[in-house]
Amino acid sequence: MPRHTNAIIELDNIRHNYELCVSLAPESNNMAIIKADAYGHGLIDVARYLSSHVPAFGIAIIDEAVQLRQEGITNDLLVLQGCNRKEDILQASLQNIWLTIHSLEQLYLVLKTSLPNKIKIWLKLDTGMHRLGLNQQQFNQALSLVKDSTNIDKNFVISSHFSCAAELHHSETRRQFKQFKLMIEESGFEGELIRSHSNSSAIVGFPEANMEWNRPGIMLFGLPLFDQPHDSDLRLRPAMTFESEVTAIRDVEAGEYAGYGQNWVADKKTKIATVAVGYADGYPRHAKSGTPVLIRNQRAYLIGTVSMDLITVDITGIDNVKIGERVELWGNELSANEIAKFAGTIGYDLLSGLSPRVPRIYRN
Ligand SMILES: *Cc1c(COP(=O)(O)O)cnc(C)c1O
Repeated sequence: MPRHTNAIIELDNIRHNYELCVSLAPESNNMAIIKADAYGHGLIDVARYLSSHVPAFGIAIIDEAVQLRQEGITNDLLVLQGCNRKEDILQASLQNIWLTIHSLEQLYLVLKTSLPNKIKIWLKLDTGMHRLGLNQQQFNQALSLVKDSTNIDKNFVISSHFSCAAELHHSETRRQFKQFKLMIEESGFEGELIRSHSNSSAIVGFPEANMEWNRPGIMLFGLPLFDQPHDSDLRLRPAMTFESEVTAIRDVEAGEYAGYGQNWVADKKTKIATVAVGYADGYPRHAKSGTPVLIRNQRAYLIGTVSMDLITVDITGIDNVKIGERVELWGNELSANEIAKFAGTIGYDLLSGLSPRVPRIYRN
């Protein structure tokens, strides 16, 4: 018998969340971002399920795009980081994969590689994040280079990325958007305007930036989007439930401890359940004592250090807990965002960090 530590994936919830996105941005093309193994939900299963509902998929790196093509996905695909190697650009051209161009170096490489087909590109502007993207001068130069190139499809997209959209009404979001429009204006760009700036939190929290293309990621998987409660929280449905089971139960007396390093010591007689999950499964190593889990629909609390394959929780006061009892680590009833806070991180990190050791079980 395998242990019952699984991620249950409700594909219908992903579909529901995508449709919510479309209803909020009906004028935009909404590309489903499924990088990092679809935020831990399984790249190929999620792509197959969504393929007839979405115009395109976004992934971080070329390997993910090639994998999607190998598995027969025919939707348009955008590589969000673009490529820095000739052989990857050739792959993109051969397999009709769109490339982000975020630097002149990337653009030169596309221009000088001999390609079987024109490549569709997304020219990325740096509007403040200073991670990837062209500044005004580089953008102007890129436009003149692209105009004369036979390697590049003339209908390219102009894109950028928000740094603070998860903080509702942050002034930087408005400033970046203004700069984005200004950069396009200053360049004297004369082609058809196809633009993209918004990720999930911007689509919902800053709708005036919904343009020809949006790039929703985390909202498809149903996590709350903002640093504060928001109407959309209740309309999004978490797609992943991470669950495990109780594998041992014992009582300890006041003064006894649990786990590595004696980091938790009982202040009274305590009933401890050991649960078959650990950091090697993607349960966060830095989760603090007091992080909640759900057992028999009640909250129990992590005590002591997270081990590689096990955690210990205080189940004093929860009646009838048995070996094999189901434990919810995050999901419908317990947001991954809440757990993340106890570990000093964010929900994205927990979902995308779920280990390959954890079987994904699909329901729809
Ligand atoms: C990951 C990513 C997205 C999706 O962001 P979410 O916050 O998950 O919606 C959009 N655009 C780019 C460039 C990204 O890297």
